[in-house]
Amino acid sequence: MISIAEHPVPGTWVLDLRATTPRALPDMRAWVVRCLPDLGEGHLDDVLLAATELLANAYVHGGGARHIQLWRGVSPCAIRIEVADVSVEQPRARPSQFEDPRGRGLLVVDGVAVQWGVRRESVRGGKLVWAHIRCDGGCPEALPRVRGKNSRS
Ligand SMILES: [Zn+2]
Repeated sequence: MISIAEHPVPGTWVLDLRATTPRALPDMRAWVVRCLPDLGEGHLDDVLLAATELLANAYVHGGGARHIQLWRGVSPCAIRIEVADVSVEQPRARPSQFEDPRGRGLLVVDGVAVQWGVRRESVRGGKLVWAHIRCDGGCPEALPRVRGKNSRS
């Protein structure tokens, strides 16, 4: 069982993935869902899609995943996903051949992310791929009545 202990920084969760294989992907998806129980269905679907592709990339092209980190901003509603792997090689969003099941991952991420990028991990080595997932407006925090409740007009 994967624990969902929150990071010391509120709204941040980290899952150590060293010594895991792609077989753990269903468990990681379950972990993401448990970290973000009150996220709207549409936003959660996009987060799961991006997290799955980033993790799959880390295993297939990144020499293995190191950790996944989630950060949640509430106002505006936003989720940032970071996946660290052990390879310094830059990932490429290459157009996929029709018969090639791989290579679509980053195009999928590009489709649901407001922004995404890659950073080298100078101290530990390897790299970190991050994606900022836009809200579709269906989350409780994104509804106008919730914002209005806290305004001081
Ligand atoms: Zn949202």
